[in-house]
Amino acid sequence: MPVLFMGHGSPMNGIEENEFSLYWAKLAKEIPQPEAVLSISAHWLTRGTHVTAMPNPKTIHDFVGFPQELYEVQYPAPGKPELANEISKMIQSTNVGFNHDWGLDHGTWTVVRHMYPGAGIPVLQLSIDFYQPAAYHYQLAKELASLRKKGILIIGSGNMVHNLRRIDWQNMNTPNYGFDWAREINETLKTKIEKNDHAALISYQNLGSAAKLAIPTPDHYFPLIYSLGLQDKKDEVEFFNDKYVGGSLTMTSVKFST
Ligand code: ZN
Repeated sequence: MPVLFMGHGSPMNGIEENEFSLYWAKLAKEIPQPEAVLSISAHWLTRGTHVTAMPNPKTIHDFVGFPQELYEVQYPAPGKPELANEISKMIQSTNVGFNHDWGLDHGTWTVVRHMYPGAGIPVLQLSIDFYQPAAYHYQLAKELASLRKKGILIIGSGNMVHNLRRIDWQNMNTPNYGFDWAREINETLKTKIEKNDHAALISYQNLGSAAKLAIPTPDHYFPLIYSLGLQDKKDEVEFFNDKYVGGSLTMTSVKFST
C-alpha cells in the first residue's frame, strides 16, 4: 500500500469540487482499495500517543466561521477497534492510549470523504504527541511500517507550508498564489524529499528563514514526518497538488509507492 502525505488546506475543500479534491478522488481510484485508513492529522495534538478505538467515530467540525453546509457534513465511516489494538501492540517505544471520544477531525474527513465517498472503509486516527520533536515522530512512524503490507492506507494530513498569520486573504482565490519565501522552501522541501534526505527534513529548523516562516509551529509539518518514516527504500516519490494558496500555504502532497 502506498503512503500518502496530503496537503489538506482549507476545510472548504471538504465540500468543494476543486482541483485538489478532484485529485484526491482520482488518486483513490488509482491505488489498491485499502482494508482501512489510518490518518495522522495535524488537528489531533495530544500529550502521549493515542489511537481512536471506537466502532463509530464521530465527524468533528473543528473550525469556526465557515458556512453552515460544512457543519452539516457527516462522514459515517466505521472505526476498527481490533486494528487499534494491533497498532498499540506494534508500537513498542511508547504506550499508545485507546481513545473513545475523538473521532474524525477535518484534517481527516475533508480529504477522505472525496477518496471514499461511500464511507464504507474503516478510518482510524493516530494522534500527534505535541511534546515530542520531529525525530521522535519519525522513529514512531517506522514502527507502523508493516501495516502497509496488511492493506492499511496511512495518510499524513497537514500542509508543508502553513502560516495562517501571513495569509493574503485578498488573494485566497488567486490560482497558485505563493510568496517568494513559500516558493523557495517548497522547492527545498521537495528536493530533500526526492533525495531521501530525511535528516535535513527532521532538522527543518535548520533550513533557514524561509523554513521558519513556512513552519511557525510544526503541527501541519509533523504529518509529513510520519510519511517519511513510513517510506520504504524501494518507494518512488510522486508529488501532486503542488500549488500555493493565499501566499503562505502549500497544498503540495506526496505519494510514496513501489
Ligand atoms: Zn489544517
